[in-house]
Amino acid sequence: KRIPLVAGNWKMNFNHLEATYFVQKLVWLLRDAHFDFKRCEVALFPSFTSLRSVQVFVEADKLRINYGAQSVSVTNQGAFTGDVSADMLASLGCTYVIVGHSERRKYHPEDDANIVDQVRAVLAAGMQPILCVGESFEERRQGIELDFAVGQVHDVTRDLNTDEAAKLIVAYEPVWAIGTGMVATPQTAQEAANAIRDDLRSTFDGHVADTVRILYGGSVTSKNAAELISQPDVDGFLIGGASLNAEELTKIARLT
Ligand code: 13P
Repeated sequence: KRIPLVAGNWKMNFNHLEATYFVQKLVWLLRDAHFDFKRCEVALFPSFTSLRSVQVFVEADKLRINYGAQSVSVTNQGAFTGDVSADMLASLGCTYVIVGHSERRKYHPEDDANIVDQVRAVLAAGMQPILCVGESFEERRQGIELDFAVGQVHDVTRDLNTDEAAKLIVAYEPVWAIGTGMVATPQTAQEAANAIRDDLRSTFDGHVADTVRILYGGSVTSKNAAELISQPDVDGFLIGGASLNAEELTKIARLT
């Protein structure tokens, strides 16, 4: 059985002092709740500038909170001013890297080729990519939302071998649900997750399809998490706004 993952994408929020405060509070809340990390995994995605602070406090408490970055350079070193490499992230103890978030696709030149290269860089450094896909309102209006989201996964997986694909995590995040309060219905999330899993099965095999965790993201809160996670193909969440509140994040993790 896939262990669910509750991932908090902080986006461009919290400086390193705020991150330090947050992590200590989260550690305290989870411990107070006797949280079982074998049952559900929790991961944080701070800004690059806060990764080291998060590492220090997670290690100090020997907790099983994992963490990672929100993006990564496709090259490993050299004259790339402003970029951060996968090896740099791995050496900070990152387990995961978010790749292809819709905000990165929108505000930066991250096209399919760049996203494939990021996935490769993350895998080569021994981390796991969390590949974000999901349709905008326009594709949904046209009724092509499933083809669109599956196609975005396929654009990346067609370049991977079976071992690499098994290390992937997919986050289905319909753009219309991100930061809008318009959460997808459990049926919508299940339908997309199921279509993505079916595609993994036909591209690779049953092992890959059964191993890859498929998260839902978009206006997840403690009010809607329980119903979403009850869907058979939804293996956790990628959470934006609600992950900035330690009590709320703890609540969602306990429901997952
Ligand atoms: P919200 O949870 O704020 O809708 O953001 C979702 C998201 O983009 C997570 O990556």
